[in-house]
Amino acid sequence: MNKSDQETLDAANEIRSRLHLHPILGNAAEAVERELDKLLAEANAPERESDGQLPNVCMDLRDLLRKNENTREWLDNFLQFQSEQRADIRGHKNMPGNSTTPVQGIQIYVCPEKDYEYIQYSRWDSPPRICPNHNIALKKKI
Ligand SMILES: [Zn+2]
Repeated sequence: MNKSDQETLDAANEIRSRLHLHPILGNAAEAVERELDKLLAEANAPERESDGQLPNVCMDLRDLLRKNENTREWLDNFLQFQSEQRADIRGHKNMPGNSTTPVQGIQIYVCPEKDYEYIQYSRWDSPPRICPNHNIALKKKI
């Protein structure tokens, strides 16, 4: 699988796992969720390994997420953040003050106990207010 197909799948799985897709998409949510489920099931089908259709499924996923301006913004920020993180891992991580690269439009929320982190990829993507483990308020990471 090529890198951009893998990233598309990661993004699609992540956005699907966020149960607050409804506020992101409003009335279009149910149709988008159905289409996402269909394409993700298609992408995960075992025969996709061999029949060469996976790039087409990934292209459909990208088209779906780019069709709505809110999911497009979310996807673009997700992809940008992933690539900045990879750049960090490649060698900038140990430089003082450079451990998190801010990406415009992204906000990270962390539990003060450091066990939980939520990355808000767009302003429509509403983070939980409390840590699921500690029941205490999350704080914005600078
Ligand atoms: Zn916690």
